[in-house]
Amino acid sequence: MARLSIPKSYKPEIDRCPLCGGKLKYRYAVSNKVIQFSHGEKRRIKNLGYSCTNPDCPHPELIYTSQTAAKLCLKGYTFSAKLIAEIMYYKTIHKSRDEIVNIFAEDNVEISDRNVDIIYNKLQKWLEMDYKESIKLHYEYMMKEYGKIMLSIDSISLPDKYRLISVRSFFNSELIGVHLFKCETDDDFNILDNYLNKDLDIDLIVTIRSFGQTYPQIKKRVNDNCKFISFIKF
Ligand SMILES: [Zn+2]
Repeated sequence: MARLSIPKSYKPEIDRCPLCGGKLKYRYAVSNKVIQFSHGEKRRIKNLGYSCTNPDCPHPELIYTSQTAAKLCLKGYTFSAKLIAEIMYYKTIHKSRDEIVNIFAEDNVEISDRNVDIIYNKLQKWLEMDYKESIKLHYEYMMKEYGKIMLSIDSISLPDKYRLISVRSFFNSELIGVHLFKCETDDDFNILDNYLNKDLDIDLIVTIRSFGQTYPQIKKRVNDNCKFISFIKF
């Protein structure tokens, strides 16, 4: 397919170093792969790495990439975040892996029963991890290394009011916590209280597709200094 041969390239959502304000410059492509989306489309995605040009920068070695491109897929896999969230949703409502493969096949998504299991097991481990401990460790590390907290939050809406929220460290894209829940009232967002509070100086990169429901929930939990940077729409 022609559209696969031309990669869509993503730059970091920021063009200035978050640590010193220096200009960022392109260094190299961090990844280049074909990603399969939940509606069956395949696209080649290139994630471009940039670093700070200021010689006095405390961390000139840090490579900034596009959070939009990074969240598109699980490291080592080529399925979009939405597709992975849908697998978790179908498992939650007790669909068998054969049923899940069939549902995806109807949308021309090629996924094997084995990959359904692998993705489910991996996500299940993340859902069960001690996120409070993870928050503590990641926040301490960011404060010590970078003097600030920068998070990348993705919120994916699923059928039947389910929602998958994942929170990553902006600096290394590592997952801090992931939550799958049925979202019926504002109180269902209280899980965010663990990540956000008005005493913390936080910069956020937030997925654009969540602006409807998640954005006001994030906004009311952070102080006025919090900088919001949107994911690029793709
Ligand atoms: Zn810098």
